[in-house]
Amino acid sequence: MPELNDTHDPKRKSFVAAANEAGNDFPIQNLPLGVFSIGGSSPHGGVAIGDQILDIAAALKAGLFGGAARDAAEAASGAILNPLLSQNSAHWSALRARVSELLAEDGPKDDVAKCLVAMTDAEMHLPTQIGDYTDFYASINHATNAGTLFRPDNPLLPSYKHIPIAYHGRASSIQPSGEAIIRPNGQTKAPDADAPSFGPCKRLDYEMELAFYGGPGNALGTPISLEDTESHIFGLCLLNDWSARDIQAWEYQPLGPFLGKNFASTISPWIVTLEALAPYRTRSFKRPDGDPAPLPYLASDNDEKWGGLDIQMQVAITSAKMRADGQAPYVCGQAPFKDMYWTIFQMLAHHTSGGCDLRPGDLMGTGTVSGTKPGSYGSLLEISRGGQEPFDLPSGESRTFLEDGDEVIMSSHCEGGGYARLGFGDCRGIVLPARG
Ligand code: CA
Repeated sequence: MPELNDTHDPKRKSFVAAANEAGNDFPIQNLPLGVFSIGGSSPHGGVAIGDQILDIAAALKAGLFGGAARDAAEAASGAILNPLLSQNSAHWSALRARVSELLAEDGPKDDVAKCLVAMTDAEMHLPTQIGDYTDFYASINHATNAGTLFRPDNPLLPSYKHIPIAYHGRASSIQPSGEAIIRPNGQTKAPDADAPSFGPCKRLDYEMELAFYGGPGNALGTPISLEDTESHIFGLCLLNDWSARDIQAWEYQPLGPFLGKNFASTISPWIVTLEALAPYRTRSFKRPDGDPAPLPYLASDNDEKWGGLDIQMQVAITSAKMRADGQAPYVCGQAPFKDMYWTIFQMLAHHTSGGCDLRPGDLMGTGTVSGTKPGSYGSLLEISRGGQEPFDLPSGESRTFLEDGDEVIMSSHCEGGGYARLGFGDCRGIVLPARG
């Protein structure tokens, strides 16, 4: 098991009362990093604690950091966290250990309290400058559910169990939780139409995913071995890979996703570090008998024993009517991340195996996380069986895909084993009508 330390101690409490409340996403054992601003101030780094944010620049100015923790805090106090992500895990751990001391109930609370700001007063920004974005397809359940709609007799293509399948996505349209999504226009062709046409997407979907941030990069031409991937991943967030199914269906062969995916992706703003998740590392998905073993560059004892992450994923939606009537979000899907066919470490090892260079702050989506049964699907494509089976919202409205005014809300958490419950915060976005 990855090493645990005092920062994981479930008995440790914070002087920030909300951090100690059951069900809060940000207890003192979490300490995710993000970039925030207050009232038009310039964005800079912070750490989430309960309902507050520790302003790293302010804490630095107050002289609360020393040694490697100070180097890391300096790297985390600007408008993007790439400088921090380019440091190594010794720096990241030193920062985490010191922040945990500062926020503990027996810490220097009088000095630290001056460096806290209320989350409700803060605007969250993208935490890194995302140079490159890749999206994998690592849930065999999702690949099977989606593949069955198009190829009932042959849902999985021959490479699936040998390669962590992915495509290179678009970094420029990634936005933080809370920003609205404009329904894309695009070229589509209905199966019974004679010719394609251009207009608003009619089959707008979400995809419930995790994503991980690259840490220190590798030189071009020098792969990162599976054993070394651990030190090249900084942390994770939630990702909604908004998808225009009708645009996607018409364009995707032979080169894969393009405009059906590049109009928007939403991420949760807090990066939950790999170190924070150490208590929730678990064995990787156990391949059924008869499945091929991964090739040696994608296989290790350590990855098999500890490559999985025990994270519960959830996606919910509200319509404009539901919000107006004060109805709670309708939970459309819940699925465990630990059932992914490929681990995030295998994804990164594969990504660099041909020599492609990772850079600090790069983002890699895992692909839609789905289970095998209704209630566990991570996309509307699966829930409505490609639009054939509408479902009802509590308001009585019917859905196959998203309507204008719908809000998609993703959330995730880890709990169990006697460790503190950790959450990822929200990843949300409202769909606005197409323009033009
Ligand atoms: Ca995806």
